[in-house]
Amino acid sequence: DPRLKAISEAIRVVPHFPKPGIMFQDITTLLLDHKCFKDTVDIFVDRYRDMAISVVAGVEARGFMFGPSVALAIGAKFVPLRKPRKLPGEVISEAYVLEYGTDCLEMHVGAVQPGERALVIDDLVATGGTLSAAIRLLVERVGAEVVECACVVGLREVKGQHRLNGKPLYILVEPR
Ligand code: 5GP
Repeated sequence: DPRLKAISEAIRVVPHFPKPGIMFQDITTLLLDHKCFKDTVDIFVDRYRDMAISVVAGVEARGFMFGPSVALAIGAKFVPLRKPRKLPGEVISEAYVLEYGTDCLEMHVGAVQPGERALVIDDLVATGGTLSAAIRLLVERVGAEVVECACVVGLREVKGQHRLNGKPLYILVEPR
């Protein structure tokens, strides 16, 4: 797809953010480029529009920057998967392991019904820990079906698996 080169080049790499040694992939510069932003959303929409997806679940915070646009275009609802203590209603939580310690994703009870077909969106997958927690919330806790996880950026090793908790993983570009 000829659009992918420009999408990749629109992502700024910030060395040593937020910690020494990390090459941070900054997708905010992609959002500044209307064509690249639209192409990114269009590629996801073209892929998912005829897959009977009723839920797009976006991972806080950068999954919120792509998920709602895709949800509106494919006729799905948008469900935010948030960091702890952000959602006001009753929640279900799934923890995941970070380099140091753990974190948690939460979803409102009742936002997704058993049997619904869900797409999970985030900006970037590295170890896959975050997406795994999202999958557990939807599949194990609610009984929904995760059709696929979609990210703008993914590491080669994760991409090589093409799967996460047995779920397909779709990635547009590799880190620069
Ligand atoms: P994982 O759980 O797969 O190891 O890490 C993915 C999560 O960390 C995503 O929610 C993603 O937003 C965030 N993340 C980790 N590294 C980067 C990075 O270099 N750039 C951006 N934009 N997000 C990152």
